[in-house]
Amino acid sequence: MKYIGAHVSAAGGVENAPLRAYEIGATAFALFTKNQRQWSAKPLTAESIDAFKLNCETCGYGAGQILPHDSYLINLGHPEADKRQKSLDAFIDELQRCQQLGIDRLNFHPGSHLQQISEDQCLDLIADSINFALEATTGVCAVIENTAGQGSNLGYRHEHLAHIIDQIEDKSRVGVCIDTCHAYAGGYDLKNDYQGVMQNFSDVVGFEYLKGMHLNDSKAKLGQRLDRHHSLGQGELGWEPFAKLMADPRIDSLPMTLETIEPDIWPQEIAELKRLAQIG
Ligand SMILES: [Zn+2]
Ligand SMILES: [Zn+2]
Repeated sequence: MKYIGAHVSAAGGVENAPLRAYEIGATAFALFTKNQRQWSAKPLTAESIDAFKLNCETCGYGAGQILPHDSYLINLGHPEADKRQKSLDAFIDELQRCQQLGIDRLNFHPGSHLQQISEDQCLDLIADSINFALEATTGVCAVIENTAGQGSNLGYRHEHLAHIIDQIEDKSRVGVCIDTCHAYAGGYDLKNDYQGVMQNFSDVVGFEYLKGMHLNDSKAKLGQRLDRHHSLGQGELGWEPFAKLMADPRIDSLPMTLETIEPDIWPQEIAELKRLAQIG
């Protein structure tokens, strides 16, 4: 089964996210469990946690249909130790919030070298941070997102994802999320070589690690290394790669969420994806 939804707002409390997802016909959703532009957040209240769980149950969202995204401020590969520690503390808090909400995975961008250290050194630091965070928490899988490779962001090559996974001690708690816009902007031609890209992913990373997808068209061109999302069918990718994704049996039973730029048309985008996946 394909679970299809969008990154919905958690304004007014995390418990509102499943209700908003349900309203747009989503069978999966993403959310921020705290303000994504701030370092600290108040702990989730017991009322909010209970209401989130109840709303998920009522609307039919199991743990594997929800993929929260962490704060944009976190850089687990920060070259400076004190700043990396600040990121690590915030990341552990994010994992704990997922744990409290009964969510089994957390999506994050791997990190940036900020032109101060090499790509490999930064990837090693990211892996160290993840190992430490997994050690400090239980039950939540760390889901590394591929990036467009904008600025000094790592994760734009499948090899980067594999480099990190290779160093994770508990491989049952690490996974990846593939963002179609990031993949294309990072140089993977999902439009003209869908099978080749997927075969490369299979060879380098492995489908067993795929724990989520972000479905976005791209304003940026192939390999342009710019993170510019577009509505499905309206960017460089067009609908064809999404039709192939929806028909791909290797990509199943995981949350697939839109981060496209026009929330008003999410219901139509979701409906079209469901039609392509032949979900009645
Ligand atoms: Zn994304
Ligand atoms: Zn993006």
